[in-house]
Amino acid sequence: MKNTIWIWIHQRDGLIDDITFGLVQEARELAADMADTVSIVAIAMGIDLNDPLDDDQENANPLNLLGGCGVDRVIQFKGSSASTYHGESVARALSGVMEKERPLFFLMAHDADTADLAPRLAAMLQLQVVTRAVDLSVNDQIPTAVRPIANGHLFETRTYNCRTSLIVTLLPNVLVSSGREPDQERYRDEKNNIVIHQIDLQQNEEQDFKTRIISTIEAEPENLDITEADIILAIGRGVGKQAGNETALDSVYELARLLGASVAGTRPVIDRGDLPFERQIGQTGKTVTPRLIINCGISGANEYTAGIEKSKQVIAINTDARARIFRFASLGIVGDFDLILPLLIKRLIQLKDIG
Ligand SMILES: Cc1cc2nc3c(=O)[nH]c(=O)nc-3n(C[C@H](O)[C@H](O)[C@H](O)COP(=O)(O)OP(=O)(O)OC[C@H]3O[C@@H](n4cnc5c(N)ncnc54)[C@H](O)[C@@H]3O)c2cc1C
Repeated sequence: MKNTIWIWIHQRDGLIDDITFGLVQEARELAADMADTVSIVAIAMGIDLNDPLDDDQENANPLNLLGGCGVDRVIQFKGSSASTYHGESVARALSGVMEKERPLFFLMAHDADTADLAPRLAAMLQLQVVTRAVDLSVNDQIPTAVRPIANGHLFETRTYNCRTSLIVTLLPNVLVSSGREPDQERYRDEKNNIVIHQIDLQQNEEQDFKTRIISTIEAEPENLDITEADIILAIGRGVGKQAGNETALDSVYELARLLGASVAGTRPVIDRGDLPFERQIGQTGKTVTPRLIINCGISGANEYTAGIEKSKQVIAINTDARARIFRFASLGIVGDFDLILPLLIKRLIQLKDIG
C-alpha cells in the first residue's frame, strides 16, 4: 500500500479553516523530505463536502479546494453524531482505519478537540505522540520535532522512532496558510479525482462509552476560548501600572462584558499570573482571528503580533506614539489606558441605556 500522511480538517461553521491548508503544506513538505511518493489523506468531520461549487474561492467546494492544494483522499465521518466532536467515538472509528493503513504521520493543529484526540489515539494504538510542536521535519528518515517547554521560555528538539506512525499536534500559529492557494490545474481537475471514504460514527447511546454529550453550553464571551472569540480585549504590561493591577483587572473584565469581548494577554501578563496561560496570544501562545481586537498597553513585539496578524480590525491604545503595535492598527489611540478605561466603560453604559 502507498504511504500516507493524514491531516485533520479544521473547520469553523462548516467552512474549512485556513490552518487546514497549513497542515496540507506541512504534509507536502514532509513528503518532500522523505523523497517518497506519499499520498495525503484528510479526515473530515462536520463539513458538507458537497456544498455547491462557488466561483468565489473563499466559499469554493471543499473537495475542490482540498484537491487543488494536494489532498488525494478524504475520510469522512457520517451519521447523526458526526457534527459534534465526541472523543471516544471519533478515536474508536479512526483507530480501526489507522491500524490498517498505518500512516507515516497524522497531523493536526492543536485545539480543544485535537488536544483530546491525539493522546487518545496514541494510547489506543500504542503510538508515539507529540503535542504543541512548532516545527516538524524528517532528517535521514528520522522524524524530528521542536516544541516549546517551560511556558515557551525554552524549546526542546526530539527525535522519534520512524517505524510506527507519529501523531503530531502543531501550534496553529506555525501553520502559515500559503498552502491554501490551490494549484490552478489541480484546482480545476481534482474535484472528481479525489477519493472519498466514508466511515460511520456511532450514536453515543448505542455504544459502551464512558462519556456522553448531554448538552453543549455556549461560553460567556469573556470566558470564550480566545481562538473562537469574535471580539478580543488584549492587555499588556502597560495595563494597571498606575491604577494598581487588581482594580485595573476588574475594570478590564467590566469593559469586556460591555463589549461582549473575550480577555487575552501578552506573555508578561501571563507570567505575572494575571491571566491563565491559555489566554496568551503569540508565538508560544495562541493565534487569534477575531473580527476586532483591542490591544491595551501592548508594545507589539514580533512574538506577540505573530498571533494577531489574521485579526480583521485592530485597535491599539498605548502611551508611546512610536510603539510597534501601531503598525498593525487600523485605529490607534496615544494615551494612558488606565485613564481611558473608565471613560470607555462610562460611554458604553450610556450607549446601552440609550439603546
Ligand atoms: C522565544 C520567545 C517567545 C515569546 N512568545 C511570546 C508570546 O507568545 N506572546 C507574547 O506576548 N510575548 C512573547 N514573548 C515576549 C515578547 O518578546 C515581549 O516581551 C512581550 O510580548 C511584551 O509584552 P508587552 O507588550 O505586554 O510588554 P512591553 O513590551 O513591556 O510593553 C508594554 C507597553 O505598554 C505601554 N504602556 C505603559 N503604560 C501604559 C499605559 N498606562 N497606557 C497605555 N500604554 C501603556 C508601553 O508604552 C509599552 O509599549 C516571547 C519572547 C521570546 C524570546
